[in-house]
Amino acid sequence: MPECEDQCPRCGAPLRCTPDDIEHCDCAPIRIHPQALSAIQADYSRCLCPACLSALSAQHSAMAPKDEPSGRSDPPP
Ligand SMILES: [Zn+2]
Repeated sequence: MPECEDQCPRCGAPLRCTPDDIEHCDCAPIRIHPQALSAIQADYSRCLCPACLSALSAQHSAMAPKDEPSGRSDPPP
């Protein structure tokens, strides 16, 4: 695949990934949660659109609080 320009595998939005010009890649400005990145790589093995990257990163940030002293992972009822 010489070009990396198609659709986001998660939501189907137009996606333009430019690894040769990473500063101008759609995903470059997205700050993504490390756990979200791992999950994305496991689930999709390719780039997602910025909206999905942001959404998944936020999702994982919310799901995995790092400073939870009790150690419980169950959400409150
Ligand atoms: Zn998407």
